[in-house]
Amino acid sequence: MSTVPSAAPVIVWLRQDLRLADNPALTHAAQSGRPVVALYILDDQTPGPWALGGASRWWLHHSLSALGDALAALGCPLVLRRGRADVALRALARETGATAVVWNRCYEPHAIARDSALKADLKDEGISVDSFNAALLAEPWTVKTGSGGPYKVFTPFWRAVREGLDPGPPLPAPRKLFALPTPPDGDRLADWGLLPSRPDWAGGLRDAWTPGEAAAQRRLADFLAQAVRRYPEGRDYPARPLTSRLSPHLHFGEISPRQIWAAVDHDGDGVAEFLRELGWREFCHHLLYHFPDLPQRPLNPRFEAFAWGDDPAALAAWQRGRTGYPIVDAGMRELWATGWMHNRVRMVVGSFLVKHLLLPWTAGQAWFWDTLVDADLANNAGGWQWIAGCGADAAPYFRVFNPVLQGQKFDSGGDYVRRWVPELAGLPDSVLHQPWTADPLTLRAAGVRLGTDYPHPVVDHKAARQRALDTFGAIKGDN
Ligand code: FAD
Repeated sequence: MSTVPSAAPVIVWLRQDLRLADNPALTHAAQSGRPVVALYILDDQTPGPWALGGASRWWLHHSLSALGDALAALGCPLVLRRGRADVALRALARETGATAVVWNRCYEPHAIARDSALKADLKDEGISVDSFNAALLAEPWTVKTGSGGPYKVFTPFWRAVREGLDPGPPLPAPRKLFALPTPPDGDRLADWGLLPSRPDWAGGLRDAWTPGEAAAQRRLADFLAQAVRRYPEGRDYPARPLTSRLSPHLHFGEISPRQIWAAVDHDGDGVAEFLRELGWREFCHHLLYHFPDLPQRPLNPRFEAFAWGDDPAALAAWQRGRTGYPIVDAGMRELWATGWMHNRVRMVVGSFLVKHLLLPWTAGQAWFWDTLVDADLANNAGGWQWIAGCGADAAPYFRVFNPVLQGQKFDSGGDYVRRWVPELAGLPDSVLHQPWTADPLTLRAAGVRLGTDYPHPVVDHKAARQRALDTFGAIKGDN
């Protein structure tokens, strides 16, 4: 291992940028020619609503494992520390004599507060701090409306971002890193207990995903080679593998939007539609930065007074995929099994929770937070506020997705429902999305006993729709 022992080291604090390539903080440290200390801090001891959920912890374990191997191959071990980030970082700086710290920026309100305070403290202690953009095409404060404020409508936001956008070429991974001759102590990843045991519920996640930078690049290459061309018409069909499934890789920073931007053929079929979805990711980050209460409070203040229900049994039926509406149940079970759900179905299950069950969008957000491998504060809050009709550019209050029609339209062959709700697999397509309409003979032939094998609907669609229209209509927002 080559080292430059005479110089004080640079600490690279890795957070949601778990990759070597196109990692500006890491490149900056590598180019300094000084020893590099690569650090990840697990700050899971401060209780708070946004502590990592179970599925995210599983992903993080494997992502750190992959990153640790990749860094070790460059001669620089990944140092793992646990505890309050400011305390752990300053302790490591003292131990190693580091005089510089670098990181890539995070945009969650609590991360911004923590990082700003830490930056000031480190500077007071004579330690230089440099931070970089590694996660967005356009950082939230760089995009402004004509009057200088933040955008609340997607289309003009995305137009403004795209105008003159030149993210430049992605940075290559450093070819080598100088490490300290004696690396600082760190925890063992296995001791962090990020993986579930007793019970080990992660079998479906293991089957569905390979976390890490190399897997993210493979997924992008596969998507661009095949599916992207059919993305515009195919992205709404949950049984078809036509979306990129890059969301967890993007959340953990195993791949950057700049790398995606550079990899696509901008004139190719489907590319503009795909990039537009990346634009929604940018928009959600823009909203969270400018409206830091986004995960807690409705953007539209009229919703503050909304009469949300409180029905633990209905919430549990929704969470477990036992609402009696097959497309909703299929989505919730896909989520539980794999840590991911197709976007079309996220909209259907979200609408069902807030409109059919009149349960608060924050309850849906919390469940998604715990169960999604791509749980992301900005995208999750943005998605839920949009579905509830209280967010930016949100769905109008009178749009109540009909779960039967959504199923018939987007899963007409029934492949998605049959996969995730196998007890209904024997039903013919004509009744698959509304099994309560099947006659007794058809049910018997399919081996389905309603109320025993599969639940009766928890609410009647027509009545629930009317109740939603009345309740939402009473507060009519600015939609
Ligand atoms: P693709 O269609 O291939 O899109 C490419 C990328 O664009 C995605 O990986 C994602 O990073 C981004 N993207 C796509 N759609 C959206 C969107 N509507 N909003 C923001 N970014 C988007 N996405 C998350 O990453 N984390 C979440 O916690 C999350 N929660 C959601 C909650 C609700 C109620 C809804 C309706 C949507 C939520 N989404 C969330 C957005 C979207 O469903 C997922 O990003 C998408 O399904 C991921 O699949 P993909 O990677 O195949 O997407």
